[in-house]
Amino acid sequence: MQLHSNFPIIVAKFGGTSVANFEALQRCADIIQENPSIRLVVVSAAAGVTNRLAELAAGVVDESARAQLLSEIMQIQHAIQAKLEPAPEVAAQVRDYLVNMAQLSQQLAEQQTEAQQDELLALGERCSSLLLAEVLRQRGCTARDFNACDVIRTDSHFGHAEPRPKRIGMLVNEHLSDLLNNYCVVTQGFIGADAAGRTTTLGRGGSDYSAALFAEALDAHALQIWTDVDGIYTCDPRQVPTARPITEITFAEAAEMATFGAKILHPATLLPAQRAQIPVFVGCSREPEKAGTWIRHQTTERPVCRALSVRRGQVLLTVRSLNMLHARGFLAELFAILARHRISVDLITTSEVSVALTLDSTGSHSSGKRLVTPALMGELEALCEVTVEDNLALIAVIGHQLSNTPKVASRIFSCIADSNIRMISQGASPNNLCFLVREADAAGVLQTLHQGFLE
Ligand code: ADP
Ligand code: ASP
Ligand code: MG
Repeated sequence: MQLHSNFPIIVAKFGGTSVANFEALQRCADIIQENPSIRLVVVSAAAGVTNRLAELAAGVVDESARAQLLSEIMQIQHAIQAKLEPAPEVAAQVRDYLVNMAQLSQQLAEQQTEAQQDELLALGERCSSLLLAEVLRQRGCTARDFNACDVIRTDSHFGHAEPRPKRIGMLVNEHLSDLLNNYCVVTQGFIGADAAGRTTTLGRGGSDYSAALFAEALDAHALQIWTDVDGIYTCDPRQVPTARPITEITFAEAAEMATFGAKILHPATLLPAQRAQIPVFVGCSREPEKAGTWIRHQTTERPVCRALSVRRGQVLLTVRSLNMLHARGFLAELFAILARHRISVDLITTSEVSVALTLDSTGSHSSGKRLVTPALMGELEALCEVTVEDNLALIAVIGHQLSNTPKVASRIFSCIADSNIRMISQGASPNNLCFLVREADAAGVLQTLHQGFLE
C-alpha cells in the first residue's frame, strides 16, 4: 500500500447532519482549521438529500411529486448558498448539478437503469464537497474540491458496489497524495467509479466506508468520523434513552455493532481501518470538545458486555427438504441461489431436514431495492419448501469473550424470559451473541437488557 510519510495525515469524515446547513458547514470548518493534520475531508450529502434522491431514483412518474422533491433539495442547497455567497464558478457548478438532478429524475421516471440511479444519487455528495471547499476558502484556507470517482475504483454492482482497495491505493498515489501537500482536499463519500468510469455508490451510509478507504490508501495517522452524537453509545440513544457513550472500543466489537445494526458506522468501515491499523475516532461535530469514542485494537477496559445493537426488518427464511436427509451439496445449492441474488445471510441454524436463515429485507442498496423478490422465491421453491416470516428484529449483545464466559447466556435469557426468542446464534465470534425476536418486542427487550447489563 502507498505510504505518505511527509507528515501525519488525518482523514475527517462529516456526515449528513454535520453538513446540513450553513452553520453546520462552519462548524466543520472550525474542526478542520483547528487541526492542521486534517488534510483530507470526506463529506456526505446534506441531511435529507439522499433520501429524496433515492425516491427520485426509484422513478417518480407523477410530475408534480417529482417537482416537489427536486424543489425540496434545491431549497437545502439554496439556503446554504444564500448565506455563503459562493464564487460565481461554484454557484454555476451547483446549478449544473441541480439541472442534472432534474434531467436524470425525468429519465428515471420513464425507465430505471441502475447506472443512472447511481449517477443521480452521487449528486448530493458532489454539492456538499463543492460547498464545504468554498466555506474553507472563504475562511482563508487553501482548500479544493476533488472528485472521489478519480480514485475510488469499484466493481460495477451499482447501488452496492465493492471497492478495489489495491487499485484505490494506486490511484490515490497517482492523483491525490501530492495535492495534500498544498491543499486541504474536500471530497465525496459514498461514491466511486467502475473501470469504465461509470459512477457507482457503496450502499446507504457508505461515506464512512469511503473515508476508511481513503485513510487506508493514504496510510493515515487517524480517521475521524464526525456525526450527530458524541461517540458510539452502549445502544442507539434514540432507542434506549439511558444509553451512554463508550470511551474506547475494540475494532472487533465496533465491527460487530455496525454489522448488527448500529447505524453510527457503515458495516464495512472498519475493514480498511483494521487492515491498515488506523485508529478511528467518532465524535460530535456540534460538540467537538466532548470525549467521543476511540476504536482501537486493544482497550484498557474489557467488559464482558459492551453494547447492544438491533437490526429491524429481518426476514426468517425456513427451507425444508427431505432430500437434505442424506444429500450432500444441498446447502451449497441454497447458498448459490442466494449468492446469485446478492443476498448475504446473517444467521443460520440447521436441523435434520430444514435450515433457517435470516436475511435483511431491504439490504443496504442505495436505492432501497428489496431483496426477497419473486424471482428469488421462484428459484428457492424449485429446490425446497420455503416458509417466510417477517417483521422480526435481530438483537446483538456485543462484548469481550462472550462465548467463553460462564453464565452469560443464562443471565441474558433469564433477563428476557417473557419474550419469544425465535432463533439464537452464539459461538461463531467471541464478540457477539445474537437472537431474533418479534419486531414489536424489540424496544422492550433492548431496554430490559440495557438495564440488566449496562446500567
Ligand atoms: P451520519 O449522517 O453522520 O453518518 P448517521 O445518522 O448515519 O449519521 O449515524 C448517527 C446515528 O446513529 C445517531 O444519530 C444514532 O441515532 C444512530 N446510532 C445507532 N446506534 C448507535 C450507537 N450505538 N451509538 C450512537 N449512535 C447510534
Ligand atoms: N449520503 C449517503 C446516505 O445518506 C451516504 C452517507 O451519508 O454515508 O446514505
Ligand atoms: Mg451514516
